[in-house]
Amino acid sequence: MRKASTDVLPAEGGLGDEPLLAVEDLHVEFATRAGVVRAVNGVSYSLSPGETLAVLGESGSGKSVTAQAIMGILDMPPARIPKGEIRFRGTDLLKLSDEARTQVRGQRIAMVFQDALSALNPVFTVGWQISEMFRVHRGLSKRDAYNKAIELMDKVRIPAARQRVNDYPHQFSGGMRQRIMIAMSIALDPEVLIADEPTTALDVTVQAQIMELLAELQRESNMGMILITHDLGVVADVADKIAVMYGGRIVENASVHDIYKSPAHPYTKGLLESIPRVDLKGQELYAIKGLPPNLLDMPTGCAFHPRCPYRQDNCVTDNPPLYEISGTRSSACHYWREVLDGDQG
Ligand code: SF4
Repeated sequence: MRKASTDVLPAEGGLGDEPLLAVEDLHVEFATRAGVVRAVNGVSYSLSPGETLAVLGESGSGKSVTAQAIMGILDMPPARIPKGEIRFRGTDLLKLSDEARTQVRGQRIAMVFQDALSALNPVFTVGWQISEMFRVHRGLSKRDAYNKAIELMDKVRIPAARQRVNDYPHQFSGGMRQRIMIAMSIALDPEVLIADEPTTALDVTVQAQIMELLAELQRESNMGMILITHDLGVVADVADKIAVMYGGRIVENASVHDIYKSPAHPYTKGLLESIPRVDLKGQELYAIKGLPPNLLDMPTGCAFHPRCPYRQDNCVTDNPPLYEISGTRSSACHYWREVLDGDQG
């Protein structure tokens, strides 16, 4: 665990030139019996108030580990952060004491987890669990905290919130449980909300409703939101910009518009082509060939080369840097021009 070097909490109010949240050259590794797993290798991204960044990638790409590092919920050890900064309102969270970190976690940076059933406590009513946030962190009386819980349940559109406040998590559907998780995460008006695969366990219609709810709550409060997903189809209507991760690093940064119009990395292109389309009904669904890389035994050169239809000889030996294409766009592919042009050589 890092030593605390400051206890000054991130300032509130104006941000000046500083982003709300900035991850800079973050490295996270895990010591395992089989060796050191380098799960995050030099990830950088930033977030402004009211902005939604979608972080996209298959499992093992490092997207959730980066989020856990931001939240400060990695088990250290076995996790280690050998390098990097996570600046929230200009303060490096990695340098805060555990106590100061706790003040930020949940209150100013909150997280919605994928599996609401295991994140909620089955032995307490949902009203108790939501109102606990107000009792512990805001010092409200039991009655006032329960009223706040009902208000929040209404806000996330749980029907008949007043009647259901004393129900237990198992008495709600998957979609309703996710709404309760969202209610808990926004209870303390966080400035940043991290939603880690918030709709993965839900059917398509409920997925859309939950995404709409998150977008609406964000608009109302001007929170910055990091939306972590493996599904490019989920983010089109809600994200402003996308960071695509592969093998622990970012391989493409772009606005949603640019990514959908013309991806600049073969992996992003593969993810786009894997989205089911109604106009291609009856045709076989595209899938990127091969498997994500083994983080204990990464391919040489470009980590995507064993799966890449654009691969050239130098890809096997030369790891591409993140080439800047424009002020807001970059790609870790030697042949990003050909990918943009759709020219597979
Ligand atoms: Fe494919 Fe080469 Fe680009 Fe890697 S650098 S994504 S292997 S073309």
